[in-house]
This record gives sequence, structure tokens and C-alpha cells, in this order.
Amino acid sequence: MQAAAVLNQGPVQIPAGLESQAKHHLFICQSGGLRALDSLIAKARGEALSHAVVVVGEDTVPSIESACCCCEEQAASEISAALVQAPLETAVYVAGTPAFRDAVQNQARTLGFTDEQVHAYVTGSVLRRVFCTHCYTTHEYDRNQRVVCSNCKRPLSVRERYSRYLGAYVGIQAKQQVSEMNAVHRSRKAAYHDG
Ligand SMILES: [Zn+2]
Repeated sequence: MQAAAVLNQGPVQIPAGLESQAKHHLFICQSGGLRALDSLIAKARGEALSHAVVVVGEDTVPSIESACCCCEEQAASEISAALVQAPLETAVYVAGTPAFRDAVQNQARTLGFTDEQVHAYVTGSVLRRVFCTHCYTTHEYDRNQRVVCSNCKRPLSVRERYSRYLGAYVGIQAKQQVSEMNAVHRSRKAAYHDG
């Protein structure tokens, strides 16, 4: 498949478009991969095409009324239910990690879908853009590591919800570290005055 793209940092990959021959469009994605399919889902909805959306993960999807959201534990059964209900001439669009894509592809294969019917968009990397609410700068950080603002050096706790307006996740100063930070500021001030 295609090279891994950066997750949550602008569109993951611009999908080519909807399968014009398909009678039904089934979108299956992890919450982080939703952005890759956003425009396709909007198109399907705009053109009033038959479609269904399954989102695995914690994100709520206010813009997509038809979305079926489920947690990781329910994912396999929700996905196979969606695949089973899909008519024969369905185009399946998958967005998520390589492991997620493989799992969905295997399920689809088992249920008689051909590989040509399944369009996969891989969201591989772990970077995400975080907006600091204290110094108003946006930087990219490793998703698996604690975020410390590269500009103002405040430790940030990052909200789960992605802000389309900011084009980033929102980071607010981590509460448990506020006193620690104040202590640092105080000692810096003290050092300044002493010097
Ligand atoms: Zn900052």
C-alpha cells in the first residue's frame, strides 16, 4: 500500500474520490483516520448517495449524523455487521493504522469482498499538531509523549477533540504541573534578581 502519512496533521492523504460504479459507500475508520475520509463522506452525503459510516474510537462525530460510533472492543463486530449489511456492489473506504486496515481488509475478504472494493488510507505516523492556549503557538509533537510547549515550555495536557478552526489539538497547561512551573518561574526570577 501507500507510504504511511502523518496522522492529524492536515489531510492524511487526499483520497482519489468516490467509486463511481458503487451502489453503496461504506466508510470504516478509526477516529484519527476520519479526517482522511471527511471529504468523501461529505461528497456522498451531498450527492445523497447511499452510504454508512463506522467510526472506531472515542471521538464523537457531530457533523456526520449517520455515523455509528463504537469502542475498540466492539469494533470487530460492528465492522462485520456493517459489511454484512452492505449490498454486493459496495465500495469500502478504510482509514486507520496499518493494523486496522489489515483487520478490516481481512474481514471484508472473509465476507466475500474483493480487494478492489476496499480502498485503504493509512494513517501511520504519530505526530499531531497541538495549539498552546498560553502562548498561542502551534507545534508538532509525538503522540506518545508528554507534550511540553516548544515555545513557552509549559507542560500541556492535550484535549482529545481536534479543532478544525485551529487545525490542531488544543493543549492547556497540565494542572498537576502548575505549581511545579510556578516554582521554576520563581527560582528563575530569584536567579535573575540575585544575578
Ligand atoms: Zn506555549
